[in-house]
Amino acid sequence: MITAAQLQFDRRHIWHPYTSMHNPLPVYPVVSARGVRLQLADGRELIDGMSSWWTAIHGYNHPRLNAAIEEQLARMAHVMFGGLTHEPAIALAQKLIELSPQAIQKVFFCDSGSVSVEVAIKMAIQYWYARKRPRKCKLLTVRSGYHGDTFQAMSVCDPETGMHHIFRGVLPVHFFADQPRVRFGAPWQQEDMASFEQLMHAQHEELAAVILEPIVQGAGGMWFYHAEYLRQVQQLCRQYDVLLILDEIATGFGRTGRLFACEWAGVTPDIMCLGKALTGGYMSFAATLTTDHVASTISAGEANGGVFMHGPTFMGNPLACAVACASLELLLQSPWQARIARIEAQLKAQLAVCRQSARVADVRVLGAIGVVEMKEAVDMARMQQQFVEKGVWVRPFGRLVYVMPPYIISEEELAQLCQAMVEVTGSRFD
Ligand SMILES: *Cc1c(COP(=O)(O)O)cnc(C)c1O
Repeated sequence: MITAAQLQFDRRHIWHPYTSMHNPLPVYPVVSARGVRLQLADGRELIDGMSSWWTAIHGYNHPRLNAAIEEQLARMAHVMFGGLTHEPAIALAQKLIELSPQAIQKVFFCDSGSVSVEVAIKMAIQYWYARKRPRKCKLLTVRSGYHGDTFQAMSVCDPETGMHHIFRGVLPVHFFADQPRVRFGAPWQQEDMASFEQLMHAQHEELAAVILEPIVQGAGGMWFYHAEYLRQVQQLCRQYDVLLILDEIATGFGRTGRLFACEWAGVTPDIMCLGKALTGGYMSFAATLTTDHVASTISAGEANGGVFMHGPTFMGNPLACAVACASLELLLQSPWQARIARIEAQLKAQLAVCRQSARVADVRVLGAIGVVEMKEAVDMARMQQQFVEKGVWVRPFGRLVYVMPPYIISEEELAQLCQAMVEVTGSRFD
């Protein structure tokens, strides 16, 4: 049970994500979770539409994931990765190399998505340093992206929503092309490349890498762009001798209907970031993957004897590796393509009616992601409460009301989620 005093303590002393300590928005106490349902302290059950921010793809409290952690726990929770290794790390790296595009051969384990982006950027910079071209240390990305909250990651998030003005002076300054505007699946229009191409042409001598979220821009705007954009980005990277970093932290492990979103464009990055669903939502863990070429260039560099300068304390944590292995096995043994296709079809069919609301600007669906974009920013506290009253968990931000449910959600549960979206985005509440 959670008492009123405990909730009061939470309100006074604990920072929640992106909140003020002055009059923070209400938080709902959860006591347990199972399958696609969260159980609140007052006994109410909510159908989860968020997969705890893209992570809980198999739902909560999964017996096989629990068992993987428990078995590993009985052996050891953690040992340092410097000078030691273990079976869960080896097994996970083998799986990741097998599943990722063919040229990807090396794995660096990280503690979180943001750290894996830091590591990717560091790899790109060390690569050019080793090639004796230290001027190539800048990044090119597109607007409306999101890559995490640490400083380098933040520096390639959208400059406005990432609030770059607050950190001016300490934030590295990189290059931003316009957001890709041609939608995924729409007829391609070559003008969409103009801004990116121009920047590439003008700045390539300073560019270490391009960093992008492939196909789906997540927290920066929940936007799905054309696969041709990504294909041409890769061509331009080759033409101008710039590395390509793809941030698959949100899109990885099936969410868009392909195991990795880069597969929609048949593009292989030089460096790839994985996180979020990697552990099936059990704990923070991530990985930065790269090619033999990038790894061996860094390793042949004279600086620091060719070592790659990173090594977090909890690197390769055995519990995280064990649950990640189990989550990958579970995913690959499941009919995940069929599940995502079914979720996609149902989201398309049941969210379409939202377009009739005068308050809705756009409705879009890709894979197991459904987005209702409002014309104006929503009252988050109010809307969240409405969702809870309808028995579902959806957390909107800005003008975006969106769901990315666990892949195991049933047709009935998804129908209830969609119905709540329709009612809440269509009703007046201000
Ligand atoms: C969530 C996210 C990150 C950051 O991951 P954390 O684990 O929150 O640090 C980076 N990139 C993308 C695309 C993400 O969705």
